[in-house]
Amino acid sequence: MSAPWDQRSLEEQARVTDLTLARWLPTVTSAAPFWSRRVAADGVEPRSLTSRSALTGLPPVREADLVADAPGAPGTVLLPSEDDVKSFAGSDVLRGIATAIRREGPTGKRTVLLREYQPVDLRRAGVEAGVVVASARSDLDRANRVGARAAALLGLDDRDVLLSAVPAGPTLAAFRVAHLAQGASITALHARGHDEDLAAVARATRLLPVTVLVVAVEEAVRLAKTLQGARLPMGRLRRVVTYGPPPDEALRLEIEEAYGGLGPKVDVRALWGPEFGRTLWAECTHGTHGLHTMPDLEFLEVLDPMTGEPTEGDGDLTLTSLGWHGTGLVRVQTGTWVDPLRLEPCPGCARTVPRLVGEMAAGAWQLPITDDSWRQRYVDLRGVPAVLAHTGGVRAWRVELRGPDDRVPRDRLIVEVAGDLDRSARTGLEQRLERACGIAPHLVAGVHPDEVRRSIDQLGGVFADLR
Ligand SMILES: [Zn+2]
Repeated sequence: MSAPWDQRSLEEQARVTDLTLARWLPTVTSAAPFWSRRVAADGVEPRSLTSRSALTGLPPVREADLVADAPGAPGTVLLPSEDDVKSFAGSDVLRGIATAIRREGPTGKRTVLLREYQPVDLRRAGVEAGVVVASARSDLDRANRVGARAAALLGLDDRDVLLSAVPAGPTLAAFRVAHLAQGASITALHARGHDEDLAAVARATRLLPVTVLVVAVEEAVRLAKTLQGARLPMGRLRRVVTYGPPPDEALRLEIEEAYGGLGPKVDVRALWGPEFGRTLWAECTHGTHGLHTMPDLEFLEVLDPMTGEPTEGDGDLTLTSLGWHGTGLVRVQTGTWVDPLRLEPCPGCARTVPRLVGEMAAGAWQLPITDDSWRQRYVDLRGVPAVLAHTGGVRAWRVELRGPDDRVPRDRLIVEVAGDLDRSARTGLEQRLERACGIAPHLVAGVHPDEVRRSIDQLGGVFADLR
């Protein structure tokens, strides 16, 4: 018998991950076209992918890779054949099918398969909102369980009345807040349309005796001022849940003080979730020990954004969506910059789950640029090392973003490469960089390695934003 999800030892967490991967990874790599093409290209047999070491041997992917395959990344959605289900589905699904066939014949089998795999809820995700994350009915049940866990972490329960200022829309933020309330049986009002401002939230406070507000971290103080300006006291409010990276001490205090004028003292706790994922991360009731993750429902790694290899230091949070149907994610680099995961038990609540502590930034390597027609797009700087790592003869490289000038009226990506690139390495290099970065680069090859290194020293790194 396994301990509850948040009290398992690291060894037990690893065992649960392996047990889940043994069925889930072969399913995803057989039944989702994008992943099945990728492992086939590497000569890997899906049936052999049954462990963590097999998983971490697969190359990670980025938003740009998913979108380059097809807009919205439909190829990541599981479409298993009956044979796939027979081979890889968990015993609960197989038992469900057997029971349904006994009761209803072939219709029963169809009902169970639809419930497990048919995408019924699609949400946009990613810095460029270019990836659509699909959930099956079975995933929505899981999302409710995730919500119940997050509510417990935050110290919320069914006596709370929640008002959400997170804008409605086809986003994972709106999805998560809705499931948090549903999973924990909390009465919730999702007060804000996607194009409405905070006044819509202020108006809604008259409808319910609100005890919990959920608001994007960057809007928390502004919402307090809006409520104060409208002279809306909130005598029952006890908790402000900020959505996004946890506020630092100064901002936490500022938010607490901003709401202090509306009624009794409030606590501030943070809630967030991984880009592309459907889990929730939450601070516990002690508040300042970081975001608690859900290791049985997601496998997290921190990779060096330059090499895509695991790192002991800070790096790119990378997600494998353990056991989820609909969209399946295998080692997707979320683009969120984080410190190393903290694996020791939480000093506040003693839960043993990995925690994200310290500064974190979403979309850290994906920067907005202005193109020829003054539209805003994104360039992904991680694309440059990803391509150059597979280009023979490269001895040093650096990248800079330059703004418009008199001659070129748009932002530009300049890639400087030193080394002896032979013809085959040079052929199509611009196109490969464009595919990986999302913008056609200006490639400067044949620079002396010392010159490249000097520029790196002067500008403090291989990536320089000179706009
Ligand atoms: Zn804790």
